[in-house]
Amino acid sequence: MKKKQSEKSGSELFEVVLTNNEEISPGVHVISFNRTFDFLPGQAIKIAVDKEHPPRIYSICSGNKEREVRILFSVKEDGFLTPKLSGMIPGETILVSEPYGRFIGTEEKAWFISTGTGIAPFYSMIQSGLTKNKTLIHGARYLNQFYFEDDLEWLLGENYIRCCSRESSCDIRQQRVTDYIDAVHELPAVKYYLCGNPAMVVEVRDLLIDRGVPFEKIIAEIYF
Ligand SMILES: Cc1cc2nc3c(=O)[nH]c(=O)nc-3n(C[C@H](O)[C@H](O)[C@H](O)COP(=O)(O)OP(=O)(O)OC[C@H]3O[C@@H](n4cnc5c(N)ncnc54)[C@H](O)[C@@H]3O)c2cc1C
Repeated sequence: MKKKQSEKSGSELFEVVLTNNEEISPGVHVISFNRTFDFLPGQAIKIAVDKEHPPRIYSICSGNKEREVRILFSVKEDGFLTPKLSGMIPGETILVSEPYGRFIGTEEKAWFISTGTGIAPFYSMIQSGLTKNKTLIHGARYLNQFYFEDDLEWLLGENYIRCCSRESSCDIRQQRVTDYIDAVHELPAVKYYLCGNPAMVVEVRDLLIDRGVPFEKIIAEIYF
């Protein structure tokens, strides 16, 4: 019997065994472990490597019916957890919490806006079947940072928009996410989900409000 998805703060940690650790792009890894809980697409878990040091938070990056839970993370060279996690091998144990959080995808029409590893909760939502009426805008500096792009292109077609600020390619826009949004003549009356680093989230939020999007239509998950 699977543990039920909970609204708890995710403070209790339990052991899971890593089933995979793959570097999918320089300095960016996907780790996985067998799923023992239910979750709502968009939720996060806490991860630690021991009980002495505080855990860090990570969005779940897999569909909510998949056998495995996957986490996408970038290695912060001078950080505590990610250099350790990146060196772990299948069979080793990590500590995780139950899923929690209110950044949750629904059937409603929405724009998903992310940069970098902020794609994780949106990939989970899309892999959980939330593809209808969704537009995904992903920003990255380099072309090799559009994680899962083949799947996303296949599932979302022209509603998958890649904005690359430092490199160009034929089907990818060479601009920042904010420039793309700003150039849209009339922004649709949808829910706007923002996920990624604080600077991007604040900049996009301000732009959306400036362009007439009601504040209550904007939902943000900030990776700090
Ligand atoms: C809701 C949420 C979801 C998230 N999901 C993801 C995700 O899916 N993928 C992902 O990659 N990240 C995610 N994050 C970020 C993640 O939780 C970690 O912050 C990140 O992985 C870095 O962890 P770390 O232990 O390696 O680095 P940390 O030890 O936390 O350090 C991070 C940075 O801060 C600097 N730093 C540390 N301590 C200090 C200090 N005292 N003074 C000044 N600078 C300091 C470090 O040098 C480093 O550059 C999420 C965050 C939140 C809040």
